[in-house]
Amino acid sequence: MPIATVNPATGETERTFEPQGAEEVEECLARAAAAFERYRTTSFTERAAHLRRAAALLEEETDAVARTITAEMGKPLAAARAEAGKCVKTMRWYADHAAELLADEYPADDDVRDSGASRVRVHYRPVGVVLAVMPWNFPLWQVVRFAAPALMAGNVGLLKHASNVPQTALYLGDLFRRAGLDEGCFQTLLIGSGAVEGVLRDPRVAAATLTGSEGAGRAIASVAGDEIKKTVLELGGSDPFVVMPSADVEAATRTAVTARVQNAGQSCIAAKRFIVHTEVYDAFLERFSARMADLTVGDPMAEGTDVGPLSSARGRADLEELVEDAVRRGAVTHCGGQRPKGLDQRLSEGFFYEPTVLSGITPEMRIHAEETFGPVATVYRVADLDEAVSVANDTSFGLSSNVWTRDDGDVQRFVRDLQAGGVFFNGMTASHPAFPFGGVKRSGYGRELAGHGIKEFCNATTVWFGA
Ligand code: NAP
Repeated sequence: MPIATVNPATGETERTFEPQGAEEVEECLARAAAAFERYRTTSFTERAAHLRRAAALLEEETDAVARTITAEMGKPLAAARAEAGKCVKTMRWYADHAAELLADEYPADDDVRDSGASRVRVHYRPVGVVLAVMPWNFPLWQVVRFAAPALMAGNVGLLKHASNVPQTALYLGDLFRRAGLDEGCFQTLLIGSGAVEGVLRDPRVAAATLTGSEGAGRAIASVAGDEIKKTVLELGGSDPFVVMPSADVEAATRTAVTARVQNAGQSCIAAKRFIVHTEVYDAFLERFSARMADLTVGDPMAEGTDVGPLSSARGRADLEELVEDAVRRGAVTHCGGQRPKGLDQRLSEGFFYEPTVLSGITPEMRIHAEETFGPVATVYRVADLDEAVSVANDTSFGLSSNVWTRDDGDVQRFVRDLQAGGVFFNGMTASHPAFPFGGVKRSGYGRELAGHGIKEFCNATTVWFGA
């Protein structure tokens, strides 16, 4: 895959970049290792000052960076600005909280005595150079949610970003440098996915984190396993959005639309499968389809656009194949199901797809099992709570989940039984720096954000004194 900015709204290649060669990659690795030796001994106060400076710069530069994001991967400008805002907040959150999250821990006196010690403490140390392999769908956020905790813990980062967002990738490396971090503390590598294995195997790299597809996760995890290196994997999702009879169906319908089409549906935590109790099924389906059909699809740079293009021609073709397979096998299309007509001539080569609602899904359809990475919703009718839980869990993924209900019994059951890293009631899944984020099953392992995320790349060291 070439390293290039191809504007998804127009299909035009705006900039191309030469991948770095082995020599340049070697220089980056050497700089990272040297930077770690100094940076690991810095105080939380010093690290926080850099992060706050990075946050302030990003805040000042939000409009320009949002335009770059929109030009590279197609999300509406307002969403790109919001993404930058979330990064600013997260950098500040870790600057404020890292010292407390990584404070030394003291085991209970009884346990200390039982071990024969006079004193024991657990001390959190950074692990070293961490390779971050990141996707294009939230090109700032995915990186910052790794970088902010990793840098506050005293690690240094090497970013291999998705090949279609090189300008955002370069911006990030530059941002941390301008924030006053040593040059080697956070560097962007411009390399293709084929060069990742060599970097990961390098002894100067201690660990890796990957956000992306199952295939990429498997590739990284195999190499890291072979090298006995720690990994965190944030992979795909096919989150259920369950609507039970006691729900506020009007509010559920409104939120369902946002939950499905945010980022043109290209979000790991987008609600993808709508599982609706038979008592409210017809009302939900009718209002949901009407609202999906009403969305404005078009130029992501224009105010008022709800849904921009998909990020690539390949992404749209994959989605079209899933829809065509489902329809061929008997799925019912309630809206969408094709490329939009009547777009401005300038956008005629863009990778747009209409918001689509399908029902009548059966297990032999690919769409039942695979992740729909675009604005396509599948709606399932269920007879009762047991069936709702069973359909919700009938997926190889387990990232997050959404449930609409006002019944305490339902709440207890879903909290106990849903196989996912999050259960969001009467709202949609969203990440927040203070809450752990991650999945189970094929959605990956490990956690990002909160105290859980910052400790993933720390060495919890037992410090034991005999006398
Ligand atoms: P992708 O193809 O896996 O790409 C993600 C990153 O991995 C890119 O930097 C890519 O580089 C690299 N990569 C791909 N194959 C690789 C390999 N064999 N070895 C090493 N690196 C490799 O994913 P995508 O299609 O761009 O992103 C969408 C996927 O990410 C979806 O499944 C989505 O659900 C998931 N995602 C998950 C989360 C989460 O938090 N769980 C968040 C966002 C997205 P190139 O670009 O150079 O190929």
